[in-house]
Amino acid sequence: MPSSMKKRNKQKSSLPLIQLLLSGSAVLALVGISLLLTNFVQVNPIEPESSSSVQSTPISPASDSTADGLALTPTPAVNAPFGVQYGFGDHYLLPGNSTAVAEEETILFTPNPTPSPTPTPTSTPVKTLKKGMDGEEVKALQEKLKLLGYMEGTPDGIFGSQTEDAVVMFQAVNGLIADGLAGSKTLEVLYSTAALSADQIPKTDFLILVNRDLPLDSNYVPSDLVDISKVISSDIVKVKYSGTKANRTATEALGTMLQAAVNSGIGKWQISSAYRTYKEQQKLVDNSVSTYLRNNPDWSRKRALSATYNTVAPAGTSEHQTGLAFDVTVPGVSFTGTEQQKWLHQHCHEYGFVVRFTKEKQELTGFIAESWHIRYVGLEAAQIMTKNNWCLEEYVQYVLK
Ligand SMILES: [Zn+2]
Repeated sequence: MPSSMKKRNKQKSSLPLIQLLLSGSAVLALVGISLLLTNFVQVNPIEPESSSSVQSTPISPASDSTADGLALTPTPAVNAPFGVQYGFGDHYLLPGNSTAVAEEETILFTPNPTPSPTPTPTSTPVKTLKKGMDGEEVKALQEKLKLLGYMEGTPDGIFGSQTEDAVVMFQAVNGLIADGLAGSKTLEVLYSTAALSADQIPKTDFLILVNRDLPLDSNYVPSDLVDISKVISSDIVKVKYSGTKANRTATEALGTMLQAAVNSGIGKWQISSAYRTYKEQQKLVDNSVSTYLRNNPDWSRKRALSATYNTVAPAGTSEHQTGLAFDVTVPGVSFTGTEQQKWLHQHCHEYGFVVRFTKEKQELTGFIAESWHIRYVGLEAAQIMTKNNWCLEEYVQYVLK
């Protein structure tokens, strides 16, 4: 693993662009390789409701220093990697910066640009410009993309991979379907005054990428955590383990979303898990290993650990440690296939969430599908990811590189 990945949680300065590019591609490559080496895609997912033996009651921070002498010292949020990962926004979620958070949200929730009624320069019907084409229209397209910061170099009128990448990025940032085809809709927005430039890419602290290849530091504790039950009424959601915390903005969005669900007749929601400390995640791993060893006396510890990692994220690699992930369930039943699950998958992007682990993307995310696990990424990113069917790894690779 490149040292830049391991060190990133401790860095306070911005990462150079080249490291971002490398880590973006490396994530996908490493996930692919690790899949070849493991068999976790073949294992059936364990749903939170059926894995109660693995589920531990949240440990209060106060008990961290005692239990088993691991001497975990939660650090204040000064090491918050939110945004530092991408070289921005490392202060937004720090205590005492609530004003900055509010300002950032205002920007974050700016609706997608309404295309200006101004017609495109061409008066004849617009043809779709795509890879392999060349000519004056392509050159004009490149000049505009360059002006908006999506392309470098001298426009040459040849629609190659670089132009295609620039079109994809432009489309993603402007809330269009990012297919790399410059059709009438894309050109209309591109030549309008509402076109967003590359530096207007929604970069928020909510886009932190955590997976098997990009673990969080064991001391990482997010700032701005709130007790979920103090933010969302128990009429709307049951919090399975009292005292469960999550990021404030994400929790508020969760409350708005579940209220909308209840208003449309879909209720009985439960939060089985949200923020977990590194140590709590380690405890889930340990409990699972113990269970495997108890049920399979002939197994080695290594084998039990390997089996555990098929379904339980190693400590540091769970995005529950960010405070931005929730396990949404229905009390007493398996979540997959319920009307609540269907509603959640259909609507969560409207509130800034994505279903983080799907069967389709498991080779990219490195985790098997979890229908109950949603992740807050912010409204614009959620909509772009959903519109383009991108997982967070893809969003980071396409848009934040
Ligand atoms: Zn989860």
